[in-house]
Amino acid sequence: MSIRNKLKEREEARDKAAQGAGGGINAGLPEGVTRYVKASEMADGKTFVMLADPDAWYFYYTHEDGAKYPSRDRYYQKHSCLHSPRKVGEDFDKYTKPNGAACISCKAKAKRKLYFMIPLFDPQYGTWRVFDSKEFHANNLIGDYDKLEKAAKKFRPDYSVVGDAVIIGKTSDGKSYSLQSGDATPEVIQAAATFIGSAEIDYAELANFRDESDLREIIEKAWDEAKLDKSVLGARSSGTTPDSSEPTGAPTEISDEDLPF
Ligand SMILES: [Zn+2]
Repeated sequence: MSIRNKLKEREEARDKAAQGAGGGINAGLPEGVTRYVKASEMADGKTFVMLADPDAWYFYYTHEDGAKYPSRDRYYQKHSCLHSPRKVGEDFDKYTKPNGAACISCKAKAKRKLYFMIPLFDPQYGTWRVFDSKEFHANNLIGDYDKLEKAAKKFRPDYSVVGDAVIIGKTSDGKSYSLQSGDATPEVIQAAATFIGSAEIDYAELANFRDESDLREIIEKAWDEAKLDKSVLGARSSGTTPDSSEPTGAPTEISDEDLPF
C-alpha cells in the first residue's frame, strides 16, 4: 500500500476515534460516545467515580494556537507535543520546557499547552473514561478535590476521593468546572474499583501521538504562517531548544473541539 493511502487510513482511524465509532479506544462504548467525556455531557453536572489522585493524573502537552475572538479559528491543526510523557508518574520538571530535539513543533516554536487526563468511571456506561482537561480547569478541579477530601477527613480520617463518587459540572459562569461530592450505589463503587490503577487505560494512545512526518505535514499546512517557524521543515531536528513557553491564560470558553485530534 502506498504511503498516501496509509496516511489516509491513519487520518480516518483518528476521525473514527474522535467520533466514537466502534473499536479501538472506544471499544465497549455505544456509537457516538468516546472515551473522552465531552463538555456538553457535564453541562448540568455528571456523576463519576474518581479513579486517581491528582498526583497520579497523566499530564501531556499539545501544540495549539488560534483566535479566541471573534471566531475560534485555529492557526494550525492541534496536535500532541512529542516532548510529553507516555505514561503516568513521570518527572514533571523534565517536560516543562519545549524540546526541539524531541519534537519538531517545539523546534518550530509552536505554542505549547499543558493538559491532564483525569481517569473517571462513568456509571452511565459502566466503564472508564477520561476528562482531557486543560491546565486551568484541572487546577480548579484540584482545588475542589482537596477541599472535599479535607472536609470528609474530619469525620473519616482514612477518606479518599479516589474510589468515591463525585459530580463534575460547569461552574456557574460557564468558564470552568467544579467537583463536588456525589452519590453512587455500592455496585457502582465496586465496578469502578477494578479500574483504579488499571493498565487498560492507555494514556499514550489517548493522547494520540503522531510521528514526525505527520507533524511536518501539520506545520507545512499551517493556516497562519506567522504562528510557526516553517524553516524547521528544511532541516531535520538538530537539538536546539527554543523558548516558546507561554504564560498560563484562562480559556474564555469551553468547547468539545479541544480533544487531542
Ligand atoms: Zn512539542
